[in-house]
This record gives sequence, structure tokens and C-alpha cells, in this order.
Amino acid sequence: MIINGETIVVGLFGDPVSHSLSPAMHNAAFQERDLNFCYLPFHVCKEDLPGAVKAICSLGLRGVNVTAPHKEAIVPYLNDLSAEAGFLNAVNTIVNRGGKLSGHNTDVYGFLFLLQNNLGKTFSAEKACLLGAGGAARAVALALNRVGVKSLVIANRTTARAEHMASFLMENRILKDSAVSIIKLDKKNLQENAANATLMINALSEDPFELGFLPQAGLQGCRVAIDLRYHSLETPFMKWAAGNGVLAFNGLDMLLGQGIKAFEIFTGVQAPVGIMREALVKGLK
Ligand code: NDP
Repeated sequence: MIINGETIVVGLFGDPVSHSLSPAMHNAAFQERDLNFCYLPFHVCKEDLPGAVKAICSLGLRGVNVTAPHKEAIVPYLNDLSAEAGFLNAVNTIVNRGGKLSGHNTDVYGFLFLLQNNLGKTFSAEKACLLGAGGAARAVALALNRVGVKSLVIANRTTARAEHMASFLMENRILKDSAVSIIKLDKKNLQENAANATLMINALSEDPFELGFLPQAGLQGCRVAIDLRYHSLETPFMKWAAGNGVLAFNGLDMLLGQGIKAFEIFTGVQAPVGIMREALVKGLK
């Protein structure tokens, strides 16, 4: 990659960003497509967020990805939002078109990509159990609606946050009132209320196995378990699932999927999926 006066800069805003695999994934893709682009990590603290958003325009960045803890806080600074970003009130990709900043949320596509890539286009689950009620959990719920999930159990440590999420899903008709239930995240509740969920998703920022929330004997009906975390090829949650005869995936394909969409938003060019995956897998080793 040769950086010169015409290089177009994109990047990532977050705190922290040093762990991110996105620079490796995007820079490999720019090189593969022979694009004079460069992707940089920007460590942006909460108090610096307004200044950092201004800098997108003043420094002429083409755009940025946004990660924790800024996905919601950045929304008020943008000129417009895609339907999904508006719906979720959370942005993970911003594109700068002549000083106008548009916010997108490619996490929904990322989760759908993970499902399709691992389970096929016709995958559907009747009943899902979602651990967590944060931003990633909301994007997953929207994606689950698109693959026809009929009912959803939301398990969260803070039940008020799960209630808030359930109201959001019902008010926006993402799921019917009767289809959403909320439980406090603990072993007994999971065993009793999520026993026949066919799909279980970990959208906690911690590992539910390590936190001691998972029933020893697994869940009878569960066929597929997905951990949105991706920094290890097999997380303790995935090991627990596999040990109970359940097909388990980590969140690497979701990261890849959201990255594919972001790359296409930044460049208008079709993403080189294989090269991007290779860069992610290499980054994990
Ligand atoms: P948020 O901070 O919005 O939500 C965190 C969730 O984890 C909340 O439900 C929170 O519960 C729960 N939690 C945190 N600590 C504990 C604990 N000690 N005990 C019980 N529950 C806990 O984060 P996000 O939704 O943005 O991200 C969640 C995870 O998803 C992260 O690991 C992130 O890396 C991953 N992710 C992966 C993506 C991918 O592309 N693969 C994309 C986006 C996210 P409470 O409400 O009680 O605080």
C-alpha cells in the first residue's frame, strides 16, 4: 500500500480500539481491489466525541466505523440515518458525502450474513433465546425478525433494560406482544423459560458460561448457539454448547458481514469477501 496525497482515509472511532481487527480487514480489502484508501484506528474518549465527529469533515475522511461506547452517543451529530440506524438509534458506519454525514447500522446485515453463511438462506428458528439487551442484542432481534423467528426470550442482568428492549420490539411491530418474554439472567430462569428455544445467542459482553449462568445439562431443544464475541475461535459458551450436542459459532462472520457492508458504503465497490475473512482469521492467531 502506498500512501500519497490522494489517499482516501477511513477509520474506526471507539474506546478502546487497539483490539480491533477492522483495520487489517479493510486494508487487505483496499489492497485487493487496488483502491487508494487507508483505514486507521482512532482512540476516541467520550468527551472527545463531538470534536472527533467534526474532524471527519475538517480532515476530509470518507467515513468511519463506530464501536463501543459511541454507537448511540454519535447519533445526534449526524445529518441523516438509514432506516435501520434510525430504527435502532445506533450507528456503526458513517459516510461523509461533501460534509454531510450519514449514519448506517450494518450489524443487522452482519448477523444475517452469519446465519446465511453458516446455516443456509432458508434457515429459520421458531423460538430464540437472546442473552443480553444492549445495542448488539437489538440489532440481532431485528435480524431475527427477518428470518421469521416467532418468539423470543430476552434474558438480561438488568431487567429494566430488557423491558425497554421488549417495548421497542413490540411498539415497532418487530415481534407481536405475545411473542416476547423477559427473564432475569440466571441459571434457574434459563433452564425453566428457555428450555425449548431452538436458537440461543450470546449478546453479552461477557461469557455466560464463565459467569455461571448456563444450566449444566444444556437446553433440550437448542440446535444452534451463537456467541457474538469473536476474539477466540471457541469461547467457553461455544464449548458448553458443543458439549451439549449443539452446533456453535462465534461472531467472526457477523464482524465480516458488517465489514463487507461498510466497505461497500465507503467505496461503492463490491467487497472481496475471501480476502477480508483471511485477514480476520489471521488477526485472531
Ligand atoms: P452493550 O454494552 O450495549 O451491552 C452489554 C450487555 O452485556 C448487556 O446486556 C449487559 O447487561 C451485559 N453484561 C455486561 N457485563 C455483564 C455481567 N458481568 N453480567 C451479566 N451481564 C453483563 O454491548 P453491545 O451490545 O454493543 O455488545 C455486546 C457484545 O457483542 C460484545 O461482546 C461485543 O463485542 C459483541 N458484538 C459483536 C459484533 C460482531 O460483529 N460480532 C457486533 C457488535 C457487538 P446489563 O444491561 O445488565 O448491563
